[in-house]
Amino acid sequence: KPTLVVSDLNKVYGGGGFLKRGAETHAVKDVSLELMSGRTLGVVGESGSGKSTLARCVMRMIDITSGGVKIGGQEIGQFGRRAMHPYRKRLQMVFQDPYRSLNPRLTVEQSIVEGPVNYGMPRKEARAKAAELLDLVGLPTNALGRYPHMFSGGQRQRIAVARALAMEPELLVADEAVSALDVSVQAQVLDLLDEIQDRTGIAILFITHDLRVAAQVCDEVAVMHRGRVVEMGTTRDVLGNP
Ligand code: ADP
Ligand code: ADP
Repeated sequence: KPTLVVSDLNKVYGGGGFLKRGAETHAVKDVSLELMSGRTLGVVGESGSGKSTLARCVMRMIDITSGGVKIGGQEIGQFGRRAMHPYRKRLQMVFQDPYRSLNPRLTVEQSIVEGPVNYGMPRKEARAKAAELLDLVGLPTNALGRYPHMFSGGQRQRIAVARALAMEPELLVADEAVSALDVSVQAQVLDLLDEIQDRTGIAILFITHDLRVAAQVCDEVAVMHRGRVVEMGTTRDVLGNP
């Protein structure tokens, strides 16, 4: 059973409210795709092609206009806030800007334990887990008491990954997660994602405008253009041998 199934998904922004009359944007058009556990599906395309909107629909950060999103066989496309609650845990996202994942006022440990504690994990257990995760993402345990600004960009992204993994999600959506990093640091974070996938079997939806990065990490690639998926297949078939 696939971790994620998107079927005939459409997202139209605007249209509601008289101030926005005539300013509709059909950002995602009839998009269908499937992602199995343990696999990485890249979504590539130029700026404005609808990649982030697709990610936000899958995460149910925004309402979808029509079509379906299934997680582990369950349709969540029309779920309201309350019904989504258990699914939020199963879907985690890492953004380009780590400060969208990390509250600058929280220590690394507080950031990592926050989610699991909200979902009922005893604090002591969550803290032990935070230490383990920090080790997994390659940071020393003395980082736990520090604040995000004390780290480099690559380290902050590792912390954001640790925070996401603390929820033991089935699906990780990475939206331009390495795009702001230097090429050498990108490679380290990509290797980390690869290693995590080997260990956990997590499915990764990997959004990027960077074909070189996509070729490095993705098993399959979907190419978006003006809201549509215009090409989809194995990374080798779609992007060739880099
Ligand atoms: P990408 O991630 O590929 O750069 P986006 O999904 O951000 O593309 O944008 C797709 C289209 O939707 C663009 O035309 C963009 O301007 C528009 N768009 C994105 N977010 C919003 C929004 N919140 N409200 C209205 N239009 C939006
Ligand atoms: P991102 O890479 O997260 O899509 P953007 O710079 O495209 O970042 O957008 C930043 C915020 O502005 C997002 O919340 C997005 O939904 C919103 N946004 C993007 N494009 C538009 C648009 N054309 N109209 C209104 N809001 C937009």
